[in-house]
Amino acid sequence: LKKEKEAAKLDDAKLIGITVDKAKDFSTWYSQVVVKGEMLDYYDVSGCYILRPNSYAVWEEIQNWFNERIKKMGVQNSYFPMFVSSRVLEKEKDHIEGFAPEVAWVTRAGSSELDEHIAIRPTSETVMYPYYSKWIRSHRDLPLKLNQWNSVVRWEFKHPQPFLRTREFLWQEGHTAHLTREAAAEEVDQILDLYSGIYEELLAVPVVKGRKTENEKFAGGDYTTTVEGFIAATGRGIQGATSHHLGTNFSKMFNISVENPDGSDKPRVFAFQNSWGLSTRVIGVMVMTHSDNRGLVLPPRVAQTQAVVIPVGLTSKTTDEARKAINDGAVDIEQRLRAINVRATGDYRDIYSPGWKFADSELKGIPIRLEFGPKDLKEEQVTVVRRDNNAKYVVKLADLESRIPEILEEMQKGLLEKARKDFDEHRVIVEEWKDFVPALNAKNVIVAPWCGVPECEDDIKDSSAKKDNGEDEEVDDKSPSMGAKSLCIPNEQRELKPGQKCVRCDKVAVNWCMFGRSY
Ligand code: AMP
Ligand code: ZN
Repeated sequence: LKKEKEAAKLDDAKLIGITVDKAKDFSTWYSQVVVKGEMLDYYDVSGCYILRPNSYAVWEEIQNWFNERIKKMGVQNSYFPMFVSSRVLEKEKDHIEGFAPEVAWVTRAGSSELDEHIAIRPTSETVMYPYYSKWIRSHRDLPLKLNQWNSVVRWEFKHPQPFLRTREFLWQEGHTAHLTREAAAEEVDQILDLYSGIYEELLAVPVVKGRKTENEKFAGGDYTTTVEGFIAATGRGIQGATSHHLGTNFSKMFNISVENPDGSDKPRVFAFQNSWGLSTRVIGVMVMTHSDNRGLVLPPRVAQTQAVVIPVGLTSKTTDEARKAINDGAVDIEQRLRAINVRATGDYRDIYSPGWKFADSELKGIPIRLEFGPKDLKEEQVTVVRRDNNAKYVVKLADLESRIPEILEEMQKGLLEKARKDFDEHRVIVEEWKDFVPALNAKNVIVAPWCGVPECEDDIKDSSAKKDNGEDEEVDDKSPSMGAKSLCIPNEQRELKPGQKCVRCDKVAVNWCMFGRSY
């Protein structure tokens, strides 16, 4: 009886769930979802965050999936130091110009000033390539394909956002060197396919594959391919991950060259290089896409806990015997699920009511809950409720091993389909400038015929910014004032009409380009 009184008291205190509406105050909603869902916590250095097990587990699923596939492509993991001397960092001029404002420096050790200041890697091209030059002696040393799972530091001055834009972030960076441009180019596309696989197959987030414009490409590279995502709640695009072809720009700077194996006119050839990276930003995109006003919604394939078993229907009148039978039954369900590699747990805390536990598991994004009570015990069944849409399934205990994985897969598919519909409906074709800003303001990204000229892109950005509030860059989601950037030139191109004009200027369009306000 004492226990029940305690439970009632705790229930009165209620679980402190999400207190704002995703549609009304997106940035507060997002911050509550990630903190209360125990994915992340704020830290006392601005722009840095703690990744708690609930998010790190997602990252580990991504690592496993990606490692398996890149290893099949012959990529090996390795680790390089986080420090880089200014001399080496500044070797490739365009590259360093792109990063310089965000590089953090170590200038002091204890109380003594360092003679040579040391940078913390914002990315590792310049850290690694001196050693590529040393290790690649003959064409037989090619291709060289290394990846590392590490953190990098970019001292961003734009508004930080958990996962999306942080000053230190986890990522993988792959760096490869090839004998021919074709071999390098082929790998760029293969990696982009894997990135799109991480988003779509694991995180249930649709992306558009494409190429960055000259303005937006990686500084110092030949071209950048990208997967672009979409945050439906704000109508903003987000760069998902990038796979760059560096050409021979870095291999010339760092002298990564081999004797020409076909011994023709050129005695030595420079290696063709790629670099490719995907960061913990993906977790933020996943959270923003699927989660709701009750908290996190995690796609089953990456959820740390996929199923929670909760005993229900126990009252003060329940006999000890019945209580035990239900608890034992719940434990048995849990164990049977774990035996088939479903990540299941049980919640047997008797100071909390089932209702409280439901809300708690919803806040943490557990894909399904299994309710097991007196009726279920009698009927040899369990009641399953899906986190994303509350769909209820009654599953015979005899069918547990076949039905639960199916329900998890149905949910995984359902999440992707819903998100894809949102993206498809908010990616609109605009052919005339007069329709451009209204479409943006209606929370769309735009696919428009475009001339491909960098100055025209700058003009589109300027002309689509709302200048009336005195800011030209948006800092939060409440007042989308920023101009539209080009997100990518999608790989899938519809045909342009003969002589079709650029959406902004008088020149002839050369491509369809995707534009949007973005993160
Ligand atoms: P980049 O080297 O700039 O092409 O970045 C590679 C990937 O890392 C991008 O596609 C982003 O998804 C991600 N990224 C870049 N900057 C940040 C940041 N400050 N925080 C989190 N992820 C980032
Ligand atoms: Zn133009």
